[in-house]
Amino acid sequence: MADDRPVIRVAVPVPLADLFDYLAPPGAPLPPPGGRVRVPFGARERVGVVVDHARTSTLAPAKLKPIREALDADALLGAELLQSLRWAADYYHHPLGEVLSHALPALLRDGRALDQPPEHAWRITDKGRAQALAEIGRRAKQQARALAALRERATSDSEFAALGVKRDALERLADRGWIERGEIDVSGAAPGIAHLPVEAAALPELTTDQAAVLDAVRAERAEGFRAYLLHGVTGSGKTEVYLRLIADELAANRQTLLLVPEIGLTPQLVARLRARFGGELALLHSALTERERFEAWRKAYRNEARLVVGTRSAVFAPLPAAGLVIVDEEHDGSYKQQSGFRYSARDLAVVRARRLGVPVVLASATPSLESFFNAQQGRYRKLEMPRRIGSAGVPKLRIIDLRQHASRQALSTPLVAAIGEHLAAGNQVLLFLNRRGFAPALFCPECKDALQCARCDARLTVHARAGVLRCHHCGSERKLEWVCRTCGGERIAVGAGTQRVDDELAALFPEARIGRLDRDVTSRKGALATVLDEVASGRTDVLIGTQMLTKGHDFPRVTLVGVLNADQGLFGTDPRSHERLAQTILQVSGRAGRAERPGEVVIQTHYPEHPLLRCLLGHDYAAFASLALTERRDAGWPPYSHLAAWRADSVEREPAYALLKNVRALASRAGVRDVALLGPAPQAMERKDGRYRAQLLFRSAQRAPLHELVRRTLLALRGAAQTRRARLALDIDPLEI
Ligand code: ADP
Ligand code: ZN
Repeated sequence: MADDRPVIRVAVPVPLADLFDYLAPPGAPLPPPGGRVRVPFGARERVGVVVDHARTSTLAPAKLKPIREALDADALLGAELLQSLRWAADYYHHPLGEVLSHALPALLRDGRALDQPPEHAWRITDKGRAQALAEIGRRAKQQARALAALRERATSDSEFAALGVKRDALERLADRGWIERGEIDVSGAAPGIAHLPVEAAALPELTTDQAAVLDAVRAERAEGFRAYLLHGVTGSGKTEVYLRLIADELAANRQTLLLVPEIGLTPQLVARLRARFGGELALLHSALTERERFEAWRKAYRNEARLVVGTRSAVFAPLPAAGLVIVDEEHDGSYKQQSGFRYSARDLAVVRARRLGVPVVLASATPSLESFFNAQQGRYRKLEMPRRIGSAGVPKLRIIDLRQHASRQALSTPLVAAIGEHLAAGNQVLLFLNRRGFAPALFCPECKDALQCARCDARLTVHARAGVLRCHHCGSERKLEWVCRTCGGERIAVGAGTQRVDDELAALFPEARIGRLDRDVTSRKGALATVLDEVASGRTDVLIGTQMLTKGHDFPRVTLVGVLNADQGLFGTDPRSHERLAQTILQVSGRAGRAERPGEVVIQTHYPEHPLLRCLLGHDYAAFASLALTERRDAGWPPYSHLAAWRADSVEREPAYALLKNVRALASRAGVRDVALLGPAPQAMERKDGRYRAQLLFRSAQRAPLHELVRRTLLALRGAAQTRRARLALDIDPLEI
């Protein structure tokens, strides 16, 4: 070749594991690794990312095509991020092109220039919020539409154009001082985030626990990478520790990445960050528009935002001046992506911190057993905050034996009495029930059967208010009919969901203001923020809710927490079901008795003697964790082994199993020892959304042979005949098995 310019190896977002080789664009500077390029790909053109430069290609020189255009003069994915993403593609056995494109906002993935003038967005003013709806003329349809949109979120010119709102309608609203225009605000784009004033110098005096934790981290700060497990009970002041650590980094002109499970559920945390750090904050989460995500990403990339806060995929945020990584509620299942590129953001946070050479703090009141184990093994340093702030102390835990006490709609007599007392004292009550809808089954006493979903191995849930039966697994729906089609008798709703408990509470406590927090309620836009706000401001007396209740809310007036049914998790088949139940119970208990009000927690169960519940009575998560770790060790489950789950699904039952049997056969011929092959077996719910689902597990005490076997099996699969009758997915370190 006359040209001795290197071959450019490009990752293209397609489901193929390979990199693709191109020639450098003639007469232009070499596109840097981590920069985007436009390349010819088949009959089309694609935007890919340069991974590296090579001397030679496996393709014949004549077959190499030149890159059409280099899009970035500087790397968009810096060296560390590119390496971490390559590591992730390798570890999760996922095509690098897809992994890289996962890390970029859609606008950049599409090839847009990084340098675009910041877009402007309209915001509603306080005056607008107070007056506009009442005063707007009835014929001003566009203005009304604009206001409705702005009450939810800031909206850009282009979004208004798409909504059919013309510029002069917006100008008229602006003339009355109801709305205003400015740059997109990346520090509070989540709906419902209060705008607290920036906190003055009066920071709270640290507790001894907080001070000890800070001292420990600060003392080792200069050493670079170090992983900490901060085990602090709810209300011990973990957030204040984050705030101080973040302030240290800001003072040193470095960035912090803070991962949170779900932004909509933690408006108080975001409000506190915003109040203290204002313009340094960039939020990255799923409720953003593409434009907002782009702006937030760009602020992080340019080190204009030195505090990047986000959910799962924010673990891929650019951090050119990284100083610290924090994972809040590190046990939370939302850190695991469950489809497509299945990764654990918590684990990748540690991987990135190591490459960045910065400390990482994993924090929780109920750490995952994996992290607990890592701390035991000395890989993480454990820091503890076992005491709550203030005089509240730990709430009293009480178990109610459902075999001994009458109950109606999941509320036992002693619990009802307790609710009455706490309400009479002017306090708030939280009730946890992990079932939404009115009732989990519609049963015919004559035929002795309950209506099933036609597409899933599951009963249909009664949604009485909507007048439908709905499947919570596939979403299919049918009309609610009380008359049995087979015998003509009357069906009955069995059991209770949150709706039914809501109704029952309304009958029992007609004076009380009752709120509900579940996906049925929060699917309406803005409803989540409203529900949380009503509880926080004391306008709700009793809140009944599902898993969403367990997230880090800080409701200072709640003194009673009821767990209506602890039994669902006691006998699960998944090795993690006990861990999840313990976490749920302690997390929801943590909502009781903050501030100066002592709290009480009531757990209803048919199995009061169950060792798990006995263990939790003492609030001793560490005791639970060592008990559970012993069980895991004896059964050979993680963290004492490592897993890869192959999952297949198909319309008929047979192809899914046939596919996994083939995977198993290929694996057993691959010549890797020390890996057990378990299955294929049905998944926990074998039929879901019209498909049969099976699973094959690879299990090994060591990671290396496990990954080697996965690699060889994938290679063998590529060479084998492909079936179109079943789909296959691979999940490394699966959460649910
Ligand atoms: P956690 O995140 O551990 O559940 P938080 O950080 O939310 O706990 O703290 C619980 C409450 O205590 C919050 O209202 C917080 O403002 C307050 N708090 C935190 N640290 C202190 C302190 N050192 N002194 C007084 N109040 C504090
Ligand atoms: Zn279904």
